[in-house]
Amino acid sequence: MRKPMMAGNWKMNKTWAESVVLAQGISNRCDDAWDAVDVVLCPPACNLKAVHTVLEFDRRDIHVGAQNCHWEEGGAFTGEISIPMLEDIGVDHCIVGHSERREYFSETDEMVNRKVMALVAHGVTPIVCVGESLAVRDAGTYLEFICNELRADFAGLEPEEAAKCVVAYEPIWAIGTGRTATPEQAQEVCSAIRAALSDLFGEEVASGMRVLYGGSMKPANVDGLMAQPDIDGGLIGGAALSADSFAELVEACL
Ligand code: PGA
Repeated sequence: MRKPMMAGNWKMNKTWAESVVLAQGISNRCDDAWDAVDVVLCPPACNLKAVHTVLEFDRRDIHVGAQNCHWEEGGAFTGEISIPMLEDIGVDHCIVGHSERREYFSETDEMVNRKVMALVAHGVTPIVCVGESLAVRDAGTYLEFICNELRADFAGLEPEEAAKCVVAYEPIWAIGTGRTATPEQAQEVCSAIRAALSDLFGEEVASGMRVLYGGSMKPANVDGLMAQPDIDGGLIGGAALSADSFAELVEACL
């Protein structure tokens, strides 16, 4: 049995004070049943420590995730944040290869791969995002595209390293657009992702790895998506910015 995961990607939203209020609101909604779900909050980097402090103070078993990292340990990389720095402030998850980073910041599969390897080496869980554009979806080559992305992002990993990673399928045409993939569309891709992971790392590893769906997931559509056999949770943008809607999404996993 795979433990579901609900990860909130706050993107470039929420000031320090707003981050504290949102983390507090989510923490207040959390009860013992939430232990059955891995809940991860991914605020902007400058607010990671504040969110971690709120959760620690409340003694909530909610994880804190970064939205990005650098693969080097340190040095002359202006504007970047290293994994040891993230670990130092309590971060134990990190989103990698989000389509916005690939598109606006020219992140390549090779960079994603280096980040995944470095995170695994540090014991920080990578949430590796893959997904196709509308053009690729319309061309009908999306399964091939996504599996190629996956193979490149996981290149060189040993099965026991891959087992520590989470994959998020995020169709670019569904992110922030209000247009969700249907449960059948999401299941088709998530099952193809699991099959590709099985080819790479063996069936046992693939069947233990979490595959999330992301792209306009919200309380109104979460049940249909979570009912799919290969969808183990969500990577949530817009609906993660309100404690009520995010809590509803966590509760939908129970
Ligand atoms: P969305 O974003 O839920 O706002 O579509 C998801 C994501 O980009 O991770």
